[in-house]
Amino acid sequence: MSKYIFIGGGVMSSVGKGITTASIGKVLQSRGYSVTAVKIDPYINVDAGTMNPIEHGEVFVTDDGTECDQDIGNYERFLDLNLSKDNYMTTGSVYLSVIKKERNLEFEGKCVEVVPDIPNEVISRIKNVEEKTKADFVLIEIGGTVGEYQNMLFLESARIMKLKQPKDVLFVLVSYLPIPSVVGEMKTKPTQTAARMLNEAGIQPDFIFGRASRPLDEPRKKKISLFCNIREENVLSSPDVESIYEIPVRFDEQGLGDLILEKFELDKGTKDLKEWEDLVNRIKSCEEEVKIGIVGKYFETGEFNLLDSYISVIEAVKHASWFYHKKPVITWLSSSKYENGENLNELDEFDAIVVPGGFGTRGVEGKIKVIEYVRKNNIPFLGLCLGLQLAVIEYARNVCNIKDATSREFNDKAENLVIDIMEEQKELLKNNNYGGTMRLGSWDCNLKKDSLAFNVYEKEDIKERHRHRYEVDNSYRDILEKNGLIFSGINKDKDLVEIIELKNHPYFIACQFHPELKSSPLKPHPLFKGLIEATKQKTA
Ligand code: GLN
Repeated sequence: MSKYIFIGGGVMSSVGKGITTASIGKVLQSRGYSVTAVKIDPYINVDAGTMNPIEHGEVFVTDDGTECDQDIGNYERFLDLNLSKDNYMTTGSVYLSVIKKERNLEFEGKCVEVVPDIPNEVISRIKNVEEKTKADFVLIEIGGTVGEYQNMLFLESARIMKLKQPKDVLFVLVSYLPIPSVVGEMKTKPTQTAARMLNEAGIQPDFIFGRASRPLDEPRKKKISLFCNIREENVLSSPDVESIYEIPVRFDEQGLGDLILEKFELDKGTKDLKEWEDLVNRIKSCEEEVKIGIVGKYFETGEFNLLDSYISVIEAVKHASWFYHKKPVITWLSSSKYENGENLNELDEFDAIVVPGGFGTRGVEGKIKVIEYVRKNNIPFLGLCLGLQLAVIEYARNVCNIKDATSREFNDKAENLVIDIMEEQKELLKNNNYGGTMRLGSWDCNLKKDSLAFNVYEKEDIKERHRHRYEVDNSYRDILEKNGLIFSGINKDKDLVEIIELKNHPYFIACQFHPELKSSPLKPHPLFKGLIEATKQKTA
């Protein structure tokens, strides 16, 4: 029988519930327990695939092609798990299942009600994960903030589970403690209010994690303990840290492992967090900088810059940099400023350039200019998904002299659609069938021996995760190849281009898949490792 730990957020969104969930999991793993994690997104969207990255951050993709929240990525990176559709649900997907069951007469004529039928569906999905994984702990992160309407049904699920299995369920509140600059003191009142709202929903938190820019001091812990009706040692400090990977170590230092295992009356095991502690020490000791530019368009929201849209790319760059004992310095380069061919020589400052994935026409011409520049100026380059498509367009236009080369995504009237859509996709789009219908999830890729790709992967057959609709049009492969572009990775089943690369360049490689989704700090991805390795040659 599994134990369940629910994690909810207080005061505001983005308090780091995902990282907290992953870190609690890491602490439990370090005691020899197996862990899995479930993310609940309180949106009507059936999955994250239809959400704009500026609104919701990166869309993460699992091996089975589930388009989900970026926190699934956090769980995979911290906990070395390979998750699936079972580990992710949204309000929309839960309602959809219940309504489908109602249509199939599975409720046998009874009135189907929001409570308990919706929470029951949530609980049955959680139990399904338990059954399939047999994990000792199932961690369930409830997206959103305690007190908001769309959060309620999931709190209701936690309440019912706690009611039925009081010894098997814990609730963790991750709350935020502001330090208003005019007062200069850390305030606990918003957290007290969040705990009260949780009480109103029938839930008493077992732990409160205080997120703040600084550690919580004794008076703050005492106040939270008194007003939130919780033992003082169960109030943990979760201050801002230099690297998120440090958080499990900070939790462990505060006795989190013992506290949880005592609550569940489980054996405390012998702690082994050595590999993770070594990682944190390595991260902290990296001094020599490596400057990476990421050229994208999902950064700006009003006057603020969002990093969430490219979170896996950013993490993958970091993992590979730390592997080579370098301190990554990542700069966001907005593609629009390169559109007219201006500002390009500022790229010389960087040790490497990444052009990540993206959708739609905005920003593509700037990215194409960047790719031309890095190709001609020997700057190490990695293109991801859209990055591959644009590298092919750039090569077709500027080397093969196919001046109007483009993708059907940008201009379906153009004559030379070097990037085009597969027949089955045309049908889907005709019927406005957008949700969950791209080429998704894990696909096989065969690497050409003696290629750069083969060199970095050190094997011939790989599997990588996809999320795109468009592909290289095979009828242009000949002319591109004759002009020097190498197709070094191919999906043999459908004869699709997966990797392209160039010779006589320190590192010029692009892939149709998203390698960033499979990188973790203990297992950096070969394509990112190759990129950082190539910067050594550049600076040497
Ligand atoms: N927009 C492109 C496509 O749909 C690339 C997608 C991506 O970069 N993930 O094929």
